[in-house]
Amino acid sequence: MASRYLGKKGIQASFRIGLVLPRVVVASTERQISSTVSKRASESVSFSFARYINGFGFGSLSNWSRSHESFPTETSIRYFHASRETLAKRKEDADRLLSHRERKKQTVKTKGKFSKREKKPDKPPVEAPYVPPRLKRLAKGLPEKTVDIFEGMTLLELSRRTGESVAVLQSILINVGETFSSEFDTISVDVAELLAMEIGINVRRQHSTEGSEILPRPPVVTVMGHVDHGKTSLLDALRNTSVAAREAGGITQHVGAFVVGMPDSGTSITFLDTPGHAAFSEMRARGAAVTDIVVLVVAADDGVMPQTLEAIAHARSANVPIVVAINKCDKPGANPEKVKYQLTSEGIELEDIGGNVQAVEVSAAKSTGLDKLEEALLLQAVDMDLKARVDGPAQAYVVEARLDKGRGPLATIIVKAGTLVRGQHVVIGSQWGRLRAIRDMIGKTTDRATPAMPVEIEGLKGLPMAGDDVIVVESEERARMLSEGRKRKYEKDRLLKAEEARIEEAAARMETESEEGFVRVELPIVVKSDVQGTAQAVADALRTLNSPQVFVNIVHSGVGAISHSDLDLAQACGACIVAFNVKGGSSANLSAAQASVKVFHHRVIYHLLEDIGNLIVEKAPGVSEMEVSGEAEVLSIFKILGKRRTEEDGVSIAGCKVMDGRVCRSGLMRLLRSGEVVFEGSCASLKREKQDVEQVGKGNECGLVMGDWNDFRVGDVIQCMEPVIRKPKFISSESGAVRIEC
Ligand code: GDP
Repeated sequence: MASRYLGKKGIQASFRIGLVLPRVVVASTERQISSTVSKRASESVSFSFARYINGFGFGSLSNWSRSHESFPTETSIRYFHASRETLAKRKEDADRLLSHRERKKQTVKTKGKFSKREKKPDKPPVEAPYVPPRLKRLAKGLPEKTVDIFEGMTLLELSRRTGESVAVLQSILINVGETFSSEFDTISVDVAELLAMEIGINVRRQHSTEGSEILPRPPVVTVMGHVDHGKTSLLDALRNTSVAAREAGGITQHVGAFVVGMPDSGTSITFLDTPGHAAFSEMRARGAAVTDIVVLVVAADDGVMPQTLEAIAHARSANVPIVVAINKCDKPGANPEKVKYQLTSEGIELEDIGGNVQAVEVSAAKSTGLDKLEEALLLQAVDMDLKARVDGPAQAYVVEARLDKGRGPLATIIVKAGTLVRGQHVVIGSQWGRLRAIRDMIGKTTDRATPAMPVEIEGLKGLPMAGDDVIVVESEERARMLSEGRKRKYEKDRLLKAEEARIEEAAARMETESEEGFVRVELPIVVKSDVQGTAQAVADALRTLNSPQVFVNIVHSGVGAISHSDLDLAQACGACIVAFNVKGGSSANLSAAQASVKVFHHRVIYHLLEDIGNLIVEKAPGVSEMEVSGEAEVLSIFKILGKRRTEEDGVSIAGCKVMDGRVCRSGLMRLLRSGEVVFEGSCASLKREKQDVEQVGKGNECGLVMGDWNDFRVGDVIQCMEPVIRKPKFISSESGAVRIEC
């Protein structure tokens, strides 16, 4: 029936796109319809002929095509034989004309509400481009809140600081086993921490400096400086000046700190025995501001070096004063004045130029100038007016921790304030224990430790970390509760950190893979060492070997001999074990061999880094590069005519002699003329004495055909390029710094 009306192309097209025609009858022409239709041709959809045409009139179109705006409101809208997709699209189309039923619906909806229908944007629907999902930073979440807590704060104060209601805090208080009568009740700092932990808020303990007995205390000194400038030698020399140590026959055990007493004045200086910047920043990162003064060691024969500047930056950022020790003054090439000049240029205001930084010339090797250095340190301490509360519960920091076979976990700590007494219960980081014994630096047991006194404590249930704070708690139960709460918190933080690192690593790996075209491989490592500080330093040093091709992943770092669980872990994640300063028993070695786990035993950090560096180089996938594998010179040219016996149709053969390396059939050929590349292409044929060969070595002659190239000249040079995998290199500098260069 419809076909009667639809003999013309324009009308057909209008149906193809599902065009709606107005009912108003005005004379029109096919051409007009076509032009209207072409406006919407881009929206064309498959559409068969109309079956019914209701009130159709050509005349209406002429008006419409002339003026879009004056489109008649009375329109009959029909989609004939429209596919489902067309209908769906029609519904989404903001521009389309509404059906009678739809308009009616709208009228009903808005009737009497005086609300205007929202005007839809007058834009065609745009197809949104596909955007691949991005890796989410899931782990970060919201930054956690940290509040300051102190002894004797009220419940109301804690509620105000944490933002949690008093009622909630009171209900937790009951679970903790505390009684209360009102929100103005004071709570101990330990209880405040337990409450904060329960509601997921970080705390910073404010230690009280008030007490009835506030006395001057010895300074705590850290030695820093460039590698090989004599930090360790200076510490050894200073340790030997300790009368107590001399009387006790020296300090046999490395305990992380020692005291040098001045018998005449009755004063003393506490030296931290872990030279290096890693230990200093690690302690600071854990919030342990133990160091009062930094001794900056600069070798008189070498001057200011990169790590000297690094040490200055560390001291400055920690706001710790510096005393300069110009070491190796016994050496013939020593030039202390040059060192002073260099330091001044770095902004160190030495006393010589009217500043307040003391510089002392010493020789650790000859033990000269040490008394002057000690004097300078004491003078600096007097300037700082260092005082500490002696009475009340102790507050201390861990300097080092180790595992002793017979005595269990041991920690060297430095008391900051108060007095630590044998038998007290302590919480250190996430560990706890009862102080079974306190030993001074020469191993003599003592009942108490006072400010700035380094002591070794025994009786802990686990190994703490360097920089952890030591707090004294009232009972074993409280110690347990705090330790368990902290462990849960640390574990949560650890998992979050690991997840963050994993996501970052995956993103970095994807980036590298797409940029460089190689897959970054992972080198998992388990680190074991004799003391906590060293394990940390070893792990940090190994991480410096990270490179775009190999990711050094320290899966675990711990203290003590290699255990079965270390082997299990290493086997499970394909890791090697680094045992630093750890004795390897034959049974451990045997088990490692059985489990096919590589174990690296070392006592010198440089040797360890060298070994792991070589392993990294071995594991690295490398990058593919083109390399010149040989060079040949064109000595003569032979032309073979083709079927049409014309030159263009023929082939040119370069008669060459290989001057260097080898020329391969599979290689990429590069033709050089007067040093300039004139052609690059594959080798079509390589013959030696009429025989097809894969390669020709140095000194031999061959015939070579190169792709479409026919224009050889005598004297041309042909380079053969072959792909090679370039591995990264392990680079070590004279200063001991190492890196992997890709
Ligand atoms: P560190 O890397 O800064 O701890 O440096 P070391 O204490 O290990 O010393 C590096 C080298 O310098 C060693 O060979 C020491 O024997 C030497 N050394 C250290 N102090 C002196 C000194 O005062 N005079 C001389 N001549 N050599 C020194």
